[in-house]
Amino acid sequence: MTDKPVRVRYAPSPTGFPHMGNIRSALFNWLFARHHKGVFIIRIEDTDVARKVDGAVDSILDSMRWLGLDWDEGPEVGGDYGPYFQSQRLHLYKEAAEQLVRQGDAYYCYCSPERLEQMRKEQMARKQPPGYDRLCRKFTPEERAKKEAEGITPVVRFKIPLVGKTVFTDLLRGEVVFDNSRMDDLVLLKSDGYPTYHLANVVDDHLMEISHVMRAEEWLSSTPRHLLMYQAFGYEPPRFVHLPMILGTDRSKLSKRHGAVSITKYKENGYLPETMLNFLTLLGWSLDDKTEIFSQQELIDNFSLERVSRTAAIFNVEKLNWMNGLYIRKLTPNEFFESVKPFLMKDGLATSALKTNEKYVRDILPLVHERIKLLSEVPELISFFFVEELDYEASLLTDKKITRETAVTALEASRQKIEHLQDFNIEALEASLRPLVEEVGVKTGQLFGVLRTATTGQLVAPPLFETMTVLGKERCLRRINTALEKLSGMS
Ligand code: GLU
Repeated sequence: MTDKPVRVRYAPSPTGFPHMGNIRSALFNWLFARHHKGVFIIRIEDTDVARKVDGAVDSILDSMRWLGLDWDEGPEVGGDYGPYFQSQRLHLYKEAAEQLVRQGDAYYCYCSPERLEQMRKEQMARKQPPGYDRLCRKFTPEERAKKEAEGITPVVRFKIPLVGKTVFTDLLRGEVVFDNSRMDDLVLLKSDGYPTYHLANVVDDHLMEISHVMRAEEWLSSTPRHLLMYQAFGYEPPRFVHLPMILGTDRSKLSKRHGAVSITKYKENGYLPETMLNFLTLLGWSLDDKTEIFSQQELIDNFSLERVSRTAAIFNVEKLNWMNGLYIRKLTPNEFFESVKPFLMKDGLATSALKTNEKYVRDILPLVHERIKLLSEVPELISFFFVEELDYEASLLTDKKITRETAVTALEASRQKIEHLQDFNIEALEASLRPLVEEVGVKTGQLFGVLRTATTGQLVAPPLFETMTVLGKERCLRRINTALEKLSGMS
């Protein structure tokens, strides 16, 4: 399969921010290149001026960097086959289009947008598939000269053979057959001098010596057109692979709801790049029926086209979250701290603690490290460590059916024990507070419940004694006093 040196490309159009599907194509190309020790190229297909979005190229490159997908040729790094922005290669497409016209494989089309629109409407009304009626294909030199004299700037259209079939082998799907009669004479060069996707893509894949084109399934119907163009140019075509679609769990097309949001959103929402890399690879590739967790190197070592699936991949956000939790738990305390830091900074609550008392933050984080699926959950989970005054309803203190009186007794007894503690650590707290169950005559859950609410302001929090240890003796005592005040104010 790899007789030619492997040179593959990710060819995004900067018409929006890259989402799952785009990046999954990039990733498969990257894995294929790295597995075969080939070259991975990024080429920016920016010839659709009207649909260009500011900041899209940066977002594409940032997403790639975040995932650790480096490129050997392309924007910022250059390479021998550049430039890697199609908008800087316009002359090449123009020459190519003219070559096809000279050879008789393409023609100038002078039809106005109004005529084309009218034709489309009529075809729709007759329930015919829309398409160009090839009027200008039949022009004599005189008719052409007349149009030229009128000053109309033409487009260039490709002459699709009127009969026959175009057959090619997709490395995943096997033989694919398209009837030429069902294809339209596509535009290659627009009247503004810009190429269409089809022309620029074919010219560049040839000039950049791309060995394999791996792209989303939605391009499958473009491929016979491209092959006819390769033939007309006399270029040797690359191998083609059309990657399976990504669907939602309900098997509908991926929408914003499912994850067709930009990859940078996943970063903002608290996913780790390791998770995304692993998860995205499994959207269409598998090693076997059971292995799900792969490091980057394992993915490179094992990736092969033979294991890419032909059927649609299902995007399951629950699985993504599960996997993210797993990758979070794999982080060392320091890696976890560094990963969470941007979220804490954004939250503001921990910002000053990070500046003045980083150790406090570092002590807090292990309490939630094992419990989360998203890094973005952390600020809210640990906010009670940072606030001066906890804000909660007094009634939370009498949760678990403890009476107000018993709650007061339990807290007062706890306060007394805590005041006398020399070492304020988990063991000491356990040893001095647990006997209160007997002494006060409450259930364990009730005692720890009221203490938990008093010290954290919440019914659910990380393990109590660990939490109290990190909060420190003074803060715990202050909070117990506040809780007692709240209880005395209760009717
Ligand atoms: N510019 C196209 C896209 O954004 C490239 C498709 C292809 O890989 O040929 O999807």
